[in-house]
Amino acid sequence: MKRIFTSQTVDKVDETVKVAGWIHARRDMGKVKFFDLRDKDGLLQIVAVPAELEDAESADPLRSEWVVEIEGIVQARSEKQVNENIPTGTVELLAKKITVLNESKTPPFEIDKDTIGINEESRLTYRYLDLRSERMAKNIRMRNAIFQNMRQFLGQKDFVEVETPILTKGTPEGAREYMVPSRLHKGNFYVLPQSPQQFKQLLMTAGIERYYQMARCFRDEDQRGDRQPEFTQMDLEMSFVEQNDVMELIEALLIHTVETLYPEKRIQEKPFPRLSYAESMEKYGNDRPDLREDKEDPNLLAFCWVVDFPFFESDDKGGWTFTHNPFSAPKPEHMDDLLNKKDIGKILTTQYDVALNGFEIGGGSIRNHQPVALRSVFEVMGFDGETIDSQFGHMLTAFEHGAPPHGGIAFGMDRIVAILQNEPNIREVITFPKDGSARDWLMNAPSPLSDHALNDVHIKLDLDEK
Ligand code: ASP
Repeated sequence: MKRIFTSQTVDKVDETVKVAGWIHARRDMGKVKFFDLRDKDGLLQIVAVPAELEDAESADPLRSEWVVEIEGIVQARSEKQVNENIPTGTVELLAKKITVLNESKTPPFEIDKDTIGINEESRLTYRYLDLRSERMAKNIRMRNAIFQNMRQFLGQKDFVEVETPILTKGTPEGAREYMVPSRLHKGNFYVLPQSPQQFKQLLMTAGIERYYQMARCFRDEDQRGDRQPEFTQMDLEMSFVEQNDVMELIEALLIHTVETLYPEKRIQEKPFPRLSYAESMEKYGNDRPDLREDKEDPNLLAFCWVVDFPFFESDDKGGWTFTHNPFSAPKPEHMDDLLNKKDIGKILTTQYDVALNGFEIGGGSIRNHQPVALRSVFEVMGFDGETIDSQFGHMLTAFEHGAPPHGGIAFGMDRIVAILQNEPNIREVITFPKDGSARDWLMNAPSPLSDHALNDVHIKLDLDEK
């Protein structure tokens, strides 16, 4: 007999079926035992009566989290016994044959209850158990639903998902990067991407026109607050567009995802309100304002855009650095000032950030597709010609070969999923996250390497405190 999922039992009343899963809970009522069997779809009540079982004692040893296969007859529950809280609440399975597929040690924490209060080290060390809990399993499935929904939306609009390299070169987007030593090229290093920024612009130059990627990004930052060293962005780029085109598309995408998957939620204002950076700072004291009318309402989503950011800010050495993204174009009316390096502090960028309930969830811009403008940005930041050519020569050369005007955006998928799932922390919606100090408790990473492995990549350690 082929195994079916617990959810399929509801329309198989009086039929003999086989289900499989984990023992979630056990209740003994004298000789009759009740079990909740859990599979990917949820719970099914199993009734084990010795006289009905092929082996009368086969239900006796079963404990929480044992893996079992059960054949039996689906029975309709009487009206009084219907359990509205589970999808299979109208039926139960009268067990005929129980086969143990694997036993389980007693779990280190209870997973038939919400695990939010369990200490994190334990939850992360036994993440595969934590993920069995109802809330966590749901978070992972809803994360998938959100990804699928966005992919479908973008696919229908002719976007192509393209994977860009993970072993690559550094890019100046503000974060410290992870480095990977090269074995074949002694003394040389790859860098893990903090974003696919350069590749997506090269894809525009390549004529792809509409690109997106659910892209893994890496940033070696001090673990301030709720950050992860690796995280997922919905990264997108389009050719022949202006600021408004990208903003309208992203707005439609976010609204579509929320309205199809979270009908209980309400988007406070559509189209999303737009604020200038100056206005946001003046009114709210930050550039990711929380515009919710009722901050206690778990179903209220207040999206907004923040635009008109200054392009440059002074750095601590008395020079200029970019505020968001060095590849951004200035607002068209400020292009001349960029090219002439005039009134630098007043140049505004085409950057647009999207905020949700007080979190910055994403940002993007129209880019400098003309090499002279891109070069000017690096010159403003004090890079000499040689540095510009060695670090960005490939971009400048590409743009000299017919780069179309283009722009894009990226937003943090982990944060979006967390907010939609009403989770306070992105670690609740990432299957295998690191802890607050970038440690992976399950795999025990980072961890030391043998001298042999280090020799192979030409690394000598100097562990003196700096
Ligand atoms: N690369 C930018 C980031 O990761 C997003 C963008 O401008 O598209 O924040």
